[in-house]
Amino acid sequence: MTELATPPTAEQSGVTRISHWIGGRSVAGMSGRTSPVFNPAFGKQTGELDLATVEEVDAAVQAAKEAFETWRGVSLAKRAELFFNIRELVHERREEVAKILTSEHGKVLSDALGEVTRGLEVIEFCCGLPTLLKSEFSEQASSGIDVYSIRQPLGVVAGITPFNFPVMVPMWMWAPAIACGNTFVLKPSEKDPSASIWTAELLKEAGLPDGVFNVVHGDKVAVDAVLEHPDIAAVSFVGSTPIAKYVYETATKHGKRCQALGGAKNHMIVLPDADIGMAADAAVSAAYGSAGERCMAVSQVVAVGNVAEPLIDAIKERIPKLKVGDGMDPASEMGPLITKEARDRVASYVEGATAEGGKVLVDGREGAPEDGFFLRPSLIDDVKPGMKAYEDEIFGPVLGVTRVGTYDEAVKLVNDSPYGNGTAIFTRDGGAARQFQFDVQAGMVGINVPIPVPVAYYSFGGWKASLFGDRHIYGPEGIDFYTRGKVVTSRWPDPATSKVDLGFPQTR
Ligand code: NAD
Repeated sequence: MTELATPPTAEQSGVTRISHWIGGRSVAGMSGRTSPVFNPAFGKQTGELDLATVEEVDAAVQAAKEAFETWRGVSLAKRAELFFNIRELVHERREEVAKILTSEHGKVLSDALGEVTRGLEVIEFCCGLPTLLKSEFSEQASSGIDVYSIRQPLGVVAGITPFNFPVMVPMWMWAPAIACGNTFVLKPSEKDPSASIWTAELLKEAGLPDGVFNVVHGDKVAVDAVLEHPDIAAVSFVGSTPIAKYVYETATKHGKRCQALGGAKNHMIVLPDADIGMAADAAVSAAYGSAGERCMAVSQVVAVGNVAEPLIDAIKERIPKLKVGDGMDPASEMGPLITKEARDRVASYVEGATAEGGKVLVDGREGAPEDGFFLRPSLIDDVKPGMKAYEDEIFGPVLGVTRVGTYDEAVKLVNDSPYGNGTAIFTRDGGAARQFQFDVQAGMVGINVPIPVPVAYYSFGGWKASLFGDRHIYGPEGIDFYTRGKVVTSRWPDPATSKVDLGFPQTR
């Protein structure tokens, strides 16, 4: 096993070194390769992140492998008790981690608190692990024979997570994985990694044994080391579609179970009978919340029939009132984008829209705070299939409007999309909404709800290029993903029924 060094605790010139967490303690990276972490509201570097080598990933896996032997045997009662402790601690300290999220991701503090709360719901679900892991028993399946099923953990499992939910998405993975008796290696986003170390410290404080939860920071080197490691049994991934596909193909090629959630382009259909005020509020909230950096953000409104004009007017009226600024300022409703590159990339879609035939009704490049990586919300009308602004996942505060004549044309747009994460319909017509839920090819559907992220006791996941693998994340499918079944057929000695019989076993 690689020799593990302790990182320096002192901060150099206001820039904090962010190191790995292996076997229950902070471990300084030895690769000599690092990556800067910024506060995007000011465009200033605040952290220097160690990027792991293959050997450092292996050290984390070995720590997890060693811990697994004991952890898998800890009783359900003790594991549940620990989850109640974790729940209490996260709840008590949610503001602390929300501030970490705001300072590295940029989302406003109230939104960061919302992220923690939705993650907490998954932890709360996992407090019921004794019930979740209950199996089946058939007495007297055959004469004198009982049959029962059990679900067991897989071993060491890994999570690779995106920048946009630095605490919640890891919770979607480590909470069910650990509750089921696995040990965990997290490779968080290199853009906002501190929440993962906060989580590691909190889990230790809650009483989680060392080695059950480990963090390795890194880039493609660390990801590939995870995907190829022979001692990792399963990988959960959340991120963009090209990387999700790569992760799924590589992990499964190396014999691992894998669920890889990808990107999205979510359509919100507004029918002519919809409540215009409610639809406009929903579109603005879901398009510009968290600066559009949500995989469930609404990025495309599909206006059916004559709803377009009043709906666009209502959206336009709301945009100038949105307060864009540092997420720590309680007055701010929308923060910056994650990096300067992300800001410039998103701005390029607004820049290019007119040449492609779109109409920029509100240009978010104007009037944004100058320090930091800010844009204001943009609104583009007449966005059509074939345009870059329509086809690409922009992942920023840009809302496109597509006008169509009928419900059927609207559904066709959703179903022709390569993505199938979330979609929503706004209408007062129950029959139309019910037909939509039947027709539409997407994993999560909202009826007058713009961001239909399922509650923790359902599972989260998209269709098509938004998910590679056959299990959605968290909820019942998460428990399924992190366990494997065994069926036991049992008979207790009864000399009266024992004889030599070379025939294939049959029930009697
Ligand atoms: P990303 O794909 O760039 O990164 C995700 C993870 O993959 C990170 O840990 C990163 O270090 C790693 N990675 C990046 N490039 C890699 C490479 N070439 N090889 C190996 N690993 C690599 O995604 P992001 O920018 O951090 O997050 C935004 C994306 O995530 C958006 O596309 C968004 O829709 C998606 N997302 C999806 C969901 C969902 O549930 N479907 C949820 C949140 C975010």
